Amino acid sequence: MTASTLNHTHSASTQSWLASANQPGADFPIQNLPFGVFRRAGSAEAFRGGVAIGDQIVDLGALSQTALLHGLALDGAKACAESALNAFMAQGPTAWRALRHALFDLLQSTAVPAAQQAVQGCLVPQSAAEHAVPTRIGDYTDFYTSIHHARNVGMIARPDAPLTPNFQWIPIAYHGRGSSVGVGSGKQVQKFLRPKGQSMAPGAAAPTYGPCARLDYELELAIWIGQGNAQGSTVPLSQAEDHIFGFGLLNDWSARDIQFWEMAPLGPFLGKNFCTTVSPWIVTNEAMAPYRLPFTRPAADPQPLPYLDDPRNQTSGTLSIELDVLIESKEMRDKGLAASRISHTNFKHQYWTVGQMVTQHTNGGCNLNPGDLFGSGTISGPVREEGGAIIELTQGGKVPITLASSGEQRAFLQDGDAVILRGWCEKEGFARIGFGESKGEVLPAA
Ligand code: CA
Repeated sequence: MTASTLNHTHSASTQSWLASANQPGADFPIQNLPFGVFRRAGSAEAFRGGVAIGDQIVDLGALSQTALLHGLALDGAKACAESALNAFMAQGPTAWRALRHALFDLLQSTAVPAAQQAVQGCLVPQSAAEHAVPTRIGDYTDFYTSIHHARNVGMIARPDAPLTPNFQWIPIAYHGRGSSVGVGSGKQVQKFLRPKGQSMAPGAAAPTYGPCARLDYELELAIWIGQGNAQGSTVPLSQAEDHIFGFGLLNDWSARDIQFWEMAPLGPFLGKNFCTTVSPWIVTNEAMAPYRLPFTRPAADPQPLPYLDDPRNQTSGTLSIELDVLIESKEMRDKGLAASRISHTNFKHQYWTVGQMVTQHTNGGCNLNPGDLFGSGTISGPVREEGGAIIELTQGGKVPITLASSGEQRAFLQDGDAVILRGWCEKEGFARIGFGESKGEVLPAA
């Protein structure tokens, strides 16, 4: 069995005894079962692992104390009782599957009443919870895998050669910072100060120092690494999916003026390292099985070198995930207006697959560790309206967008703006599953 194998946990006809899990359009039906780390909001409780179902969380620490689980599933739940999911992620796909399947059995409508009652005792309402970053992130790597984003931003940064010669041959990345990754969603907004730094105005003789004037977001997928690999070993593409625990939403906040001045020749530094916001829930690789698509390249493009090519990647390497970006301004909050959607796209347009990212990362012998985080790179679709960053939507800030609910205009982000990322998967004959949201807000510079 592989991560892309369909099984009974993907059956759309299965319902849960928990009514909120069966609501049409719900993010967390029984087919999803994403993992996160939580505690009751405002309490001194220890953070521990949980699984979202409907509007509730199954407390895996509490569940591991019951007699409901056995074998690998029990071992997995005990690992999830810790304050981060690293130990569970290290157990590998057989253990992840065992716990998912045991939870599916306990939560489905045909579960015996005694089991239902025991699980009820382990539920915490999502509305009463606060989250922590789901792993102790050892390393965070940010990829750059949307050819549309690369062309859109390349036109602004390097109009003479927007697409670098390596883009179509290598899943490009740089090593980012794990320390400033935080979680934000719903009422728990990750707030950060507008960064300060050096920037160089076009034609100026010297750079200036001050608050970022071109603050942006980047719509990305969070890719959470499960089992690692030994230093000096490589992960072949045929096995790459077994090293991916799951996926979330990631906002790679970007200070464009700081970034564009500092990034040649070694890549982004202060323009990116001040804050990254992830969503609290990790949708497992197994839950994503129905929403996979073939990986294809236009015939005229360079085809992947053999180490980045594999039959399984060809048949099912691409993920179809619908994605929204919304802005909620201070004015909207003050007036009680809804957040405005500013773009919509799908992850399927990405030029490289998540498996290819894992293989590329380890190809030189670099070791990945359980709980490591990848950003997929900004996700932009083929037309401008599908841009995954505001710099694309506004053509470098030259053509401001209008926020529909308030009528405000934006060239870049203003203080008080919150950015919300949402994602979900839909396919005929299968359940709709959602990622929840990531939400962060920029505060005025210190
Ligand atoms: Ca990025």
